[in-house]
Amino acid sequence: MKLNQDEVVKILKSKKIKLTPNRIKIACELFNSDDHPSIEDIHQKLLENGERISFTSIYNIVKLFESVGLVKEIKVGNKSHYDPNIFPHVHFICKECGNVSDMNVPETDNENLYVVIHNIMSDYINHEVDDFELNFYGTCEECKKNKHGLN
Ligand SMILES: [Zn+2]
Ligand SMILES: [Zn+2]
Repeated sequence: MKLNQDEVVKILKSKKIKLTPNRIKIACELFNSDDHPSIEDIHQKLLENGERISFTSIYNIVKLFESVGLVKEIKVGNKSHYDPNIFPHVHFICKECGNVSDMNVPETDNENLYVVIHNIMSDYINHEVDDFELNFYGTCEECKKNKHGLN
């Protein structure tokens, strides 16, 4: 899903975020990424595109987006990645390189999974559940190849 600038602006407006050029640039970068970038990744990508936005500014803007529910933080060790898909879904996290990828579960299955977990939770406890995280950990394809290459 690629969003153009107008669509990104519409999303920011819907969350009552004051529009600034940097916010729009970072939102375009973030909302169009499917590789769960860290602040460092976004910083690097913008530099490559000739955009000079400080690390701190990017951090503050991403945190602003997170506070209004536009992105979700995924913690891998002490590093944070950001996901523009805020609907609960399944991740694979590589223990070697820290890469976070979405597992290919069709959306309807994801929804069913959410409903199933939600029902289990509300059957046993009185907490109100509105979110869950399901992460698988291991070695990604790329790292597996590199490992074997060393043998
Ligand atoms: Zn890896
Ligand atoms: Zn994700």
